[in-house]
Amino acid sequence: MGAHYDSNSTDPFHAPGVTDNGCGVAITMELARVMSQYRFPHTLKFAFWNGEESKEGEFSLGSTSYANQAKNQSLDISLYLNYDSACYDPGNRSVVDIMYNLGSRPMAEEMVRSNGLYGINATLSYNLFNCVDDVRPFWSDGYPAIMTHSESHGFRHTPEDTLDKASFPYAGKNARLGMAVLAHYAGLGKKVSTNRFFSSIFSIREPDKIAFHDSTLSSIKIITYKDIL
Ligand SMILES: [Zn+2]
Repeated sequence: MGAHYDSNSTDPFHAPGVTDNGCGVAITMELARVMSQYRFPHTLKFAFWNGEESKEGEFSLGSTSYANQAKNQSLDISLYLNYDSACYDPGNRSVVDIMYNLGSRPMAEEMVRSNGLYGINATLSYNLFNCVDDVRPFWSDGYPAIMTHSESHGFRHTPEDTLDKASFPYAGKNARLGMAVLAHYAGLGKKVSTNRFFSSIFSIREPDKIAFHDSTLSSIKIITYKDIL
């Protein structure tokens, strides 16, 4: 799974990038924290991609490089899960869009099933968005990949994409949805008991508890992780 950590803005000297994509980074860190407490039959990798944001027609550079390498090495990837635009919910409607393609439809269906099974209760929509994103290199290389997306782009790519635009409860739901699907494809129920894992879904902290900070003194964005619990 992964998220891109670069950001973009109409003002190149102020690109806070909280909803796009600091929240995706925070969720990836949190899922790594929780899932690292278990040993699954299949390997889990947590990735932070660079160069996702478009510059002169180039985009998703980090994930493209990884997916191409994976294909060249014939890596068997049963699912790539992407987080982007992961926490914007101004109307508190909890609408989570699942973006998938034909090859990843079963994974999208697993996310729908998890939404009910774990009582996450997001309002799900399907392929409402069609953004260029880090799922695409995986799709191009024939790997199943899904991502979630908030109901609207909001303030992305502007200096106003700041922490006050993030809905932490929304990010928490989004994180739980993804972790449930990841655990399923990592072989939940084989080495890790489903009952024990069930409680982990609810031990996921929301990004305000993960406390990510951004520095906007220059066009270079710095995200630091600080465990405040
Ligand atoms: Zn993004």
